[in-house]
Amino acid sequence: MRSDAHQKVNAGHLKRNAYLYVRQSTIRQVFENTESTKRQYALRQHAVALGWPVEQIVVIDSDLGQSGASAVDREGFQRLVAEVSLGKAGIVLGLEVSRLARNSTDWHRLLEICALADTLILDEDGVYDPAHFNDRLLLGLKGTMSEAELHIIKARLQGGILNKARRGELQSPLPVGFLYSPTNQPVLDPDKQVQQSLRFFFETFSRAGSAMATIKAFRRQGLLFPRRLKKGPHKGDLLWAELTHSRALQVLHNPRYAGAFVFGRTHTRKKPDGSDAFLKQPREQWILLPNMHAGYISWEQYEENQRRLRENAQACGHDRRKSPPREGPALLQGLVLCGFCGSRMTVRYHCRGTHPVPDYVCQKDGIEHGRRLCQSVNGEQIDRSIGDLLIQTMTPMALDLALSVQQEIHARLDEVDRMRCRQVERARYEADLAQRRYMHVDPANRLVADTLEAEWNSKLRALNETQEEYERLRQADRKALDETHKAHVASLASDFPRLWKDPQTPDREKKRMVRLLLEDVTLLKREQISVHVRFRGGAINSFSLPLPVGAPVLRKTPAAVVLEIDRLLDQHTESRVATMLNERGVRSSTGQAFTAMTIIKLRGRYGHRTHFQRLRDRGLLTMEEIARRLGVVSCVVKDWRNKGLLVAHRYNDKGQCLYELPPDGLPGKFKRKQSYLAAKSIRLDSDNGVQYEA
Ligand SMILES: [Zn+2]
Repeated sequence: MRSDAHQKVNAGHLKRNAYLYVRQSTIRQVFENTESTKRQYALRQHAVALGWPVEQIVVIDSDLGQSGASAVDREGFQRLVAEVSLGKAGIVLGLEVSRLARNSTDWHRLLEICALADTLILDEDGVYDPAHFNDRLLLGLKGTMSEAELHIIKARLQGGILNKARRGELQSPLPVGFLYSPTNQPVLDPDKQVQQSLRFFFETFSRAGSAMATIKAFRRQGLLFPRRLKKGPHKGDLLWAELTHSRALQVLHNPRYAGAFVFGRTHTRKKPDGSDAFLKQPREQWILLPNMHAGYISWEQYEENQRRLRENAQACGHDRRKSPPREGPALLQGLVLCGFCGSRMTVRYHCRGTHPVPDYVCQKDGIEHGRRLCQSVNGEQIDRSIGDLLIQTMTPMALDLALSVQQEIHARLDEVDRMRCRQVERARYEADLAQRRYMHVDPANRLVADTLEAEWNSKLRALNETQEEYERLRQADRKALDETHKAHVASLASDFPRLWKDPQTPDREKKRMVRLLLEDVTLLKREQISVHVRFRGGAINSFSLPLPVGAPVLRKTPAAVVLEIDRLLDQHTESRVATMLNERGVRSSTGQAFTAMTIIKLRGRYGHRTHFQRLRDRGLLTMEEIARRLGVVSCVVKDWRNKGLLVAHRYNDKGQCLYELPPDGLPGKFKRKQSYLAAKSIRLDSDNGVQYEA
């Protein structure tokens, strides 16, 4: 302790508390480095020597066991800063005080606040007053040094880690399915169920071609996926849970499963709030050493999987590469190339009636640069001709294909069955274990015995459920295989064309078949559509198709029908014309019954006059007009119409009519009435003398 220490301490300082800040970085240091902890507590004696009463020395040690790289999570350090800024601290004590804060920013902030609050700082070397320039300079230096020290330690540590990683000797956490052997070599997890699950997972992916399809397969089969706990008191325990998409992707992207050593796939960076952000690093920056240990797939298989995942990902983006088959009838989805620019063409659907019709369009360039489409080809006839081509070409292969499909289905189901069996075995093993634990417990120890009994019961229940589920799925599988599959496979063998044309065959299956057989199809639309088909294995077939007839031509209503409509409209309303045509069994161009709307549309398209106009042409009058002519109000017109005194023609479905003017002006019987009414009104006007006709 320096001799001038006492000069800096004054009564004002002594009135306030002394804060002893004790910290260790990690739990391990707390256990191993008790010496340093002792030294930190010994500082208390210094404070007493400087004149602070023991009861006024506050110890802050709540940060024990927390890493000090940032102040954010460190409650103790935050509390210290708060106490100082409230003016409660006369002095802050710490061993190598600059380590109070493990980065310069925190440290300088503390110094600033101490200077403002007139708080002293004490470490093993002496007392400092941050308000004094010299002391502050020294403290600042100490802070910088300690940050530098931290940096060097980190760099050394990192360097060591990197060196080890380059030799592939670094023991990084292994993904599920691997464990470290006693000699620290990564080996396959001896748990057979874990191994089988992973193998099934990779096989399913290579068959189905997408992570999503793999998950669906697991879900359909009622299979769970293993996971090992990475943290907590049960670290290393095995958990079985439903396979999720992100999990599937993690496994697929992890080179460890191909037996490779990998390091540096992510980079950690501190976020402003002190939490960690994980950044994915490009593959060139990884330390990647293939074939370092046993794996579940080969390195080639891993690369192939990456390629497929990339293609699938791009399918969702702007370039629909060879994506896995989706719903929708477009047979060649993902297989069509544009003959003009070489881009892969996408599928667009338009509706004809209720069913979707595919178009193959080359729009990548158009979308990116705002130009018009490169080309668009109606997919219906392309699909049809490709189907015909396959039927012609594939007949001899059909049997082979059918047999291999059948074998595959069998093999797959057997394997699934074995895995489910393991699940039951595991449940049984756990139940046995619980039973044994219960048997071994001292019956006098009631509490423990009760708990163990409850556990045994729950394990037995779980076993029961697993067994029932197993039986149920097994039955379902057998049934599916026996009935539908066998029939389908048999029909595939005997009759590929029939299966192809069978409306029961889902589009997705057809697409799978196409993918098995074709590499790609190039389309070029000029005066004709040129189609170049490349089969898997290199065979090529080219043919041309005429340009499809446009929809308006295709849907043209026969001229005779149009003429007939024109004729009928002279006498009838649109809805009546529709009914009459339907009664005669005439159908529209789309094969449907006529409605008033179709007649209206056709009439418009061919420029025919409406029934209303035709009636007007013949000199018929509206209700208002005839009422005016006859000198009556409109309800009288209606009344006369209902009594059959006036001839009316409906011109629409609302019952509105046009009227024929009676040749002699007015129905005879009512002529007199009208004259009477007229006369009466005149009589009211003049006194007398006006007679009405008899
Ligand atoms: Zn194009």
